[in-house]
Amino acid sequence: MKEQLERLIALQEADLRLEELAERKRRIPEMVEAARQPLQAAQALRDSTKQAFETTGKERKSCEQELAAQEQVISKLQDRTTKGEIKTNREYQAHLLEVELTKKKRGEIEEQILILMDAVDAKKKDLAQAEAAAKEADQRFNAEKAALESSVGALDDELAGLRQKRESLVAAVEPSLLRNYEKLKSSKKGQALAGVNKDGSCMSCRLQVQPQVVAEVKRATSILTCSYCNRILHWAGDPVQIVPIPEKPVELLEVEEAAETTE
Ligand SMILES: [Zn+2]
Repeated sequence: MKEQLERLIALQEADLRLEELAERKRRIPEMVEAARQPLQAAQALRDSTKQAFETTGKERKSCEQELAAQEQVISKLQDRTTKGEIKTNREYQAHLLEVELTKKKRGEIEEQILILMDAVDAKKKDLAQAEAAAKEADQRFNAEKAALESSVGALDDELAGLRQKRESLVAAVEPSLLRNYEKLKSSKKGQALAGVNKDGSCMSCRLQVQPQVVAEVKRATSILTCSYCNRILHWAGDPVQIVPIPEKPVELLEVEEAAETTE
């Protein structure tokens, strides 16, 4: 029975590891998506920065067109005097006022152009920064993605090895014991077995196991279950001392152990 129990322990270990690795493999696509998030954020920032840069550039261009138009207005106004279109003093006063207003307008546009030129420069710098950050995020994402995808291969290898190990263990466990194990495994989230620690409690449900059961678990001559959580028990305390005299009667051994645990 000790051997059977040891195989079950190894089987549970393999099963838990299989579940863990399968879960890790399942989560890889979602981890790739999580790794993509900073890249998407950096790209969105780059795009919005680019748009702001282009908008400011267009504003500047339209201001420059406005300035050119204003220059034309001024030169037409000046033509009036050279062509002798102004006849009266009143007309002349009106003309001067018009020139003054147009030049004032031109000054405002020039000022606006200077502000926009500064803004274009600043946005150009922002864009260069955002583009570099997006490029860096892209490289980082690709490296993370490649690492995650290559880990699938390693996981598959380990999974295949574990499945093989599981098969040989399953073949070596008594069918009824195996059925019991499988049943417990599905109802106990993979934990079909529970260790009994040196204080004599079940390490799964934490409850105290009866002393005589602890003694039998230590000896491992039969399959015992926890009366509270039903898991198959195995000794997980200090290594059990092997009695050096092989001809020592089993009965005596039982008496000794019972005495020891009922103190
Ligand atoms: Zn228990």
